[in-house]
Amino acid sequence: MDDGWWGQAACKGTTAEYFFTPPSFEVKAERDAREGAARRICGGCVVREACLDHALTSGEHRGIWGGLNELERRRLARRRRASA
Ligand code: SF4
Repeated sequence: MDDGWWGQAACKGTTAEYFFTPPSFEVKAERDAREGAARRICGGCVVREACLDHALTSGEHRGIWGGLNELERRRLARRRRASA
């Protein structure tokens, strides 16, 4: 079965704990460390652009997608709308 870009995702099989905010409170240092771990995985991912496009077009509000967190994706979406 062809599972598209997800089939080549570098994060496939890794724990989601790096990519999503935990249910318990997270201080900034913990968040930075967690997001840094996720970004390192994303940095070596061959489908990063497809992943980011998916997150932007489907309105993913949570987690790291394409190496960007929620706030960074909102900013990118705003910049793209402004330059369209
Ligand atoms: S860019 Fe990051 S979140 Fe997206 S598929 Fe690749 S490793 Fe996973």
